[in-house]
This record gives sequence, C-alpha cells and structure tokens, in this order.
Amino acid sequence: MNYSWSYKDLKKRYNMLQRKLKGNLSFKDRILIVKDMEETLTSISFLLLDYDDFGTPSMVDAVAAEHELLSYYSFLWRDCLEVADTIESKLSFKLRPQRLMLTQDELLGIVHDFYKNQIGGEFFLTFLKDFNQRYNHVRFTPSKNVEGATYHVGYFKESFIDISWNHIFLDIIVLIHEYGHAIHFQTNYYNQASMELLPFWEIVSMFMESVAYDHFIKDSTFSKMALESKLIDHKSLLNNMYDLGTLLKLFQNWDIEELNSNGRIKHCARIAGISIKDLMYSLNTQASCNLQYVVSFLVVIELMDVYRNDPEKAFYLLRQILSIKALDLDEYYRELVGKGINLHAHVKDFESELKRELKRF
Ligand SMILES: [Zn+2]
Repeated sequence: MNYSWSYKDLKKRYNMLQRKLKGNLSFKDRILIVKDMEETLTSISFLLLDYDDFGTPSMVDAVAAEHELLSYYSFLWRDCLEVADTIESKLSFKLRPQRLMLTQDELLGIVHDFYKNQIGGEFFLTFLKDFNQRYNHVRFTPSKNVEGATYHVGYFKESFIDISWNHIFLDIIVLIHEYGHAIHFQTNYYNQASMELLPFWEIVSMFMESVAYDHFIKDSTFSKMALESKLIDHKSLLNNMYDLGTLLKLFQNWDIEELNSNGRIKHCARIAGISIKDLMYSLNTQASCNLQYVVSFLVVIELMDVYRNDPEKAFYLLRQILSIKALDLDEYYRELVGKGINLHAHVKDFESELKRELKRF
C-alpha cells in the first residue's frame, strides 16, 4: 500500500465548496459557515499548489520580515535569549543515522501502537479520527531533509499530513509529531491555527515526540536508534536556539528605521557583535520559525518533568492547556501561567537534558 493525498478528492472538495459559496445560502448559513468555507478554500488551494520556490528575498527584506514577526512576541525574548546563552559548548559530535527499512504500513502501524499503548485515553480516540483517514491524508515524500507538515481543512475537519521518508528511525518520530498537530487541530482549532499563538503551536507535537523518545529508548528493538535520533534532534534544537539568539541580539538595540541598506545591516550586526556569516545563516534558516520550537519546548520540559513521575497528571495538564480558549496572546500566556506553567523556570534544563543523554550514549 502506498499512501498519498488524492488530488482528485481535494479538487472535488474545492469545487463543491465554491459551488456552495456561489449558491443561495440562507442568511443563517452565511453567518455560520462562510468564514469557515473561505478559510478552507484557501487551505485547499495551498495543498494543491507546489510551493517549493517562492524566490529568495533580499537581505533587507528578510531582516525586515523577521523583525516584524519577532517584535510581536518581544515579551518572550528574555527567555529565548537566556536559552541561547546556555549553549556554552559547541556540540561537535557527528552521527550518521542507521538505516531502518520499514514499509509505509509498518511505519504507520508503529505510530498507531504508540498512540494506543503509550498515550491512550481521549488523545488516542482523537488520534484515531485522523488515523482512520490515512489512505489519502498522509503523503510520503522522498527528501534529503527530515521534515513534516500538517494542514487542516476546517470545514471538513480533516488533516493532511506530509512527511519526508528517509528510511531512518526519525521517520517514526516525525509522524508521531505530525499526528500531535492533527490532535491539536481537532481539539482546539483556534489554538493551533491562530498566528497570534504561534509560539505555542508545538506544545502537543513536541510533547508526544518526547514521550515517544522516552518510550523507544527503553524498547529493546529501537533503543540505540532512538537514542541516536534524539541526540541528532536535540542538536538541531540547540542550533535553532543559537540562530534565534543571533537575531534577537541584533534586534534588541536596533531601530528598524535605520534599515536602509545592506551596509547598514552589516554595520549594526558588527556593533551587536554578530558575525555576518552567522547573521546570513540565521536569515537563510528563517530564525523566526525557531521561536515556536524554543518556546514550546520550554513548556514541554515542564510537562515531561511531571510525566516521568506521574503520566496521568501530565496528560491532565496537557488537556488543560489544550482547553484554553484565549482570545489573544496575552490572555493565552496568562492562562498558561495560571495553570502553573512557568517558561522561565526551565531555561537551564535545556542543556542539562542533552548532557544527560550524551552520557548515556
Ligand atoms: Zn511541528
């Protein structure tokens, strides 16, 4: 069995929605569903596109875009900068992941059993709703980069998962991670879709991923591969933090109005003590994208701390976080703190967790 999205199906839905929107909707229907339909149309047209190449922006445009996005979340900068500062050691280990030859069915079977046996309860039932639609909702793309993405079409309440297939253990983790996003979409669509709440988008997915690592590292078949994979993953997380830190340091004392020429950016970078090479690298990797991984992981460290002593309590806490019906970022953050989640308390745990794993290897 080869899994892939059905473009025919997507196109059918797209046309159906467009017909509905053009047709005679009652006033009540218009108010209730038009927004949903329009959003879904946009998501589907995105799914139908090949969006590989949007072109490369100039350095000025790239800096401006990163600045605009990150400024919005400036109240989180302190925690992110502290995290970036804890990365004292350059991690130099090189690991070449072992091959893991599984069929797509086997891969999906392992992910299913993980959600059934290690997660269970309500989360498993929510997972099943998406998993049962896997035949044309999961697409495997051969790619050199390990990556995945989940798209939700709100009107139909369905998720589409795209994952790269590299025949390594990380494929299992990426799929578990993406199903975490699908669960999040099903449980609280606003939480997961709102640009406002972007820094917290990865809480469920990264939590599931961390539970999976804990589980597979103890599993006799996958133990070594899982540990290896976790270290590679963790190393890239540390790189993410470093890149984000580079940009934030530049933006901290920087007037965006001064942004008028490449020479000026280079000048500002030098004053901030950032090498142009590092800055270019941060821009190329779009360091602002790292914000959600860094911030969400701070929450996940706390959840994992609870999970290792009392899994039920951690799942309860996760359900609480998922039930937040905040209208904006400030309100969401306040609710999170109200549930006892304190980002700042865990900044130092980042590197120590990695060091602990390195010792075991
Ligand atoms: Zn994710």
